[in-house]
Amino acid sequence: MSGGPKYEYRWADNNEYKKPTAVPAPKYVSLLMDWIEAQINNEDIFPVKVDVPFPKVFLPTCKKILTRLFRVFVHVYIHHFERLVLIGAEAHVNMCYKHFYYFVSEFDLVSQKELEPLAEMTSKICKGCTPSKR
Ligand SMILES: [Zn+2]
Repeated sequence: MSGGPKYEYRWADNNEYKKPTAVPAPKYVSLLMDWIEAQINNEDIFPVKVDVPFPKVFLPTCKKILTRLFRVFVHVYIHHFERLVLIGAEAHVNMCYKHFYYFVSEFDLVSQKELEPLAEMTSKICKGCTPSKR
């Protein structure tokens, strides 16, 4: 999945894809959604009983999920922005992105290096944030 000329996201899941593998964006997104579903339904990672504590893998898994979801924003903004404008979805996607960005920033869930592809746009649409300087 391309994130513009400087970034290419490869898929690996320690299952069917042992090594990072180049896949087209629709395939990446489909693999990602299935993988996320498997993670959040795994009670060893996301416990459902109040007396079961969150395991050590909980936070790293959340970070990985959100990092991979961020890459979908990168792909959509870089490769499909004109289409978004055409169908009048720009404001909606920007709002989704802002919620996502403020959340992952507040709790430090996606690394600055990962955020870099959208850093310039982020600094324009998210008030009070200069991602590259944090
Ligand atoms: Zn695409």
